[in-house]
Formats: sequence, C-alpha cells, structure tokens
Amino acid sequence: MKPQKLRIGRKPDNDIVVDDPSVSGYHALATLGDGNSAILEDNDSSNGTYVDGVRIRKTQFTTGSKIILGKIPFDPGKIFRFDKKPDDFIHEFSELHPVWLVLEKERVDLIEIQKKMDVLLAIPYIGRLIILLMNRHYDLENRRVKWKENMRRQWNCPGCQQPLRDYDWLTWNDCEHLKKCPKCKVKWF
Ligand SMILES: [Zn+2]
Repeated sequence: MKPQKLRIGRKPDNDIVVDDPSVSGYHALATLGDGNSAILEDNDSSNGTYVDGVRIRKTQFTTGSKIILGKIPFDPGKIFRFDKKPDDFIHEFSELHPVWLVLEKERVDLIEIQKKMDVLLAIPYIGRLIILLMNRHYDLENRRVKWKENMRRQWNCPGCQQPLRDYDWLTWNDCEHLKKCPKCKVKWF
C-alpha cells in the first residue's frame, strides 16, 4: 500500500468529515503507511489534536491510540478503514493477532504439562499419584475446556464469524498461508 493522505475536519470536502463545532474546518491530516501505524498532523486547528492525552503537532498513532479532535473523541479505526473494499478484512484480522498469541501460549503450556505427565506414566504407582496431583495443581481439565471455549468464541473469521478451523484449529500461520477465508472469501492478509 502506498502512503495515502486523508484530510479530516468539519468542512464537507474533507476525506473524513467530523461535524462538531470544536473541530476546525480542516483540522488534521493523516498519512497512512504500511501496516497498522500512521502519522497524524494537526493543521493549526483552533482547539488542538490530542493523541493519548498529549497535544500534538505531528505524531505516529495506531488503532489503539486515543485521539481527540477539539473536544470530541475520534476513532482511529475510521482512518485505517477509509476506502476499505467490502472483502478487505486485513485490518480486522490483524487485530486478532494478540488474541492468537494468548491462545497459542496456553496451548503450548498445556502440551508441556502433558509431556511431563506422559514421562511419569512410566513410573508405577508413584508416577500415577504425581500425575493426579499435577492434574489438580495445574487445573488441567478445566484449562483444556476453557481453552477450547475461548478458541470457539474468540478465534473467528472477522468476515463471517465462523470458527477458524478445518479438521483442526487453524494457526496464525495457516491463516497467513490461506490469505482469505475459505468460507466467506474475505481477505485476511
Ligand atoms: Zn469468513
């Protein structure tokens, strides 16, 4: 994607119109780059532009930044979603990455614990006793159920809301390889 400049302000010929008296006619300029960050520039506005509580001239921001134009909060997603094609869910999918990282960490943790328990299986009696205690200590069954539940609830295609799985859960890399949803065909990457 080439850098794209978007004008933001109260006047109707801006790329993104914010109709509020505290917002100047041509209040700010956003420059989109690659990925999920962009530059926001205040255009000598009367009431200022704030990013994460700081009045700015020019600064980088992301979808998570808190932007205030004049006196009103402004959703940075409006900038990232500008001109989005109906099948373009690249930005929405990228927001799933932190969700994936948490789910993946728990999956790896559960496998590690299981591996330790499998080794203990070879020790008669005492091995099984330790396994029982480990099970209780790590709350393993509960965590497995919760993990599955979270996968089903959180790991969904942002386009069709279907769980990201074929015969098994799709990993982040699987999705990157597929590039689009096999079910609803929206773009993920
Ligand atoms: Zn889909």
